[in-house]
Amino acid sequence: MARSIGFGATLSVSGRRVLVVGAGGSALGQVAALRDAGARVTVVAPDAVQSIADLAERDVVQWHARSYDAADVTGPDAELVVAATGDSELDDRIAADAAAAGRWCTVATTDGADGATRHARQAAGTVVLVGGGPGDPGLITVAGMDAVRGADVVVTDRLAPLGVLNDLDVEVVDVGKIPRGRFTPQEEINRILVEQAQAGKRVVRLKGGDNFVFGRGGEEVEACAAAGIPVEVIPGVTSAIAGPALAGIPVTHRGLSQGFTIVSGHVPPGDPRSTLDWAALARSGTDLVLLMAVATLPAITAALIAEGLDPATPAATVADAALPTQQVVRGDVATIAARMTEAGIGAPAITVIGQVAGFDPRA
Ligand code: SAH
Repeated sequence: MARSIGFGATLSVSGRRVLVVGAGGSALGQVAALRDAGARVTVVAPDAVQSIADLAERDVVQWHARSYDAADVTGPDAELVVAATGDSELDDRIAADAAAAGRWCTVATTDGADGATRHARQAAGTVVLVGGGPGDPGLITVAGMDAVRGADVVVTDRLAPLGVLNDLDVEVVDVGKIPRGRFTPQEEINRILVEQAQAGKRVVRLKGGDNFVFGRGGEEVEACAAAGIPVEVIPGVTSAIAGPALAGIPVTHRGLSQGFTIVSGHVPPGDPRSTLDWAALARSGTDLVLLMAVATLPAITAALIAEGLDPATPAATVADAALPTQQVVRGDVATIAARMTEAGIGAPAITVIGQVAGFDPRA
């Protein structure tokens, strides 16, 4: 189809039904941006990258795992059609079908802009680790966004602010790790970063939060260094602090807390793989900020109480912080695990235990 001159416009898609055809790297940014904008997204594609499959598993989007059919664009789920299959001929066919059906359609640009024309601060053949913040595209840093815009390839996963990839002409490689689900082993991710840089690309490793907070950023720096690849680190806003903040919880507050301790709860107290001293944490007098502690929260709160933490200590869990699906549950250390389960909360979630979790500016 010959492309005619377009008319730039910003559509309000909140509550509207949008059909995305395609679920590969070129669809990821668009699906995430539509989700961020509150659209009701249906995806049609035989295969999906991990982050889109994860959104479908959590019912954030609907995914029909099959090939595109011309009838898709005439259905009720297609007030707007987004053609993002990564195959420009197929995208053009979808656009033509949508036009014939009287539906609006956008086609992703996959023209492969010449790297030399980019205003990239990053040199070719290097890797930049970018902390993307907790999920809202507004919470990535200016430097981080510059690096993403200037990249040839972005290696990312589901906790990153994937909406920032919308409308960017970059190759997206999704290497998500989903709790108890499909994942790409870290060695494979390291290998991808090194290989892409060795091929002369500007590589961005985009993660949620800060790459050095339970983000394996150090391992990726080591892998690049071992291969002689220059690495730059752009810090991000960690969900450990931003998650509580977005729920109105200050991690320190004069009179309530003189410190906070961020720990991983990916293994429960008493597990042979755990290196944390939970008795010391119970007595630390700092707030505890627990990451990766959804399934283990009952065991962790029980251990803290057994080690002498007052069961009435305030606690709060913030799930999907900075995303349209953000949920906050409050209670105390004795009740928070049950309240979280009752609320149907799943990962990703952050639990804060300490007086700050009961912070109420009106009190
Ligand atoms: N590097 C990330 C943390 C990665 S570990 C950072 O600095 O934020 C993954 C854990 O981070 C999740 O299990 C969850 O505890 C937390 N997390 C990440 N994003 C989150 C979000 N948007 N809302 C709530 N918790 C989040």
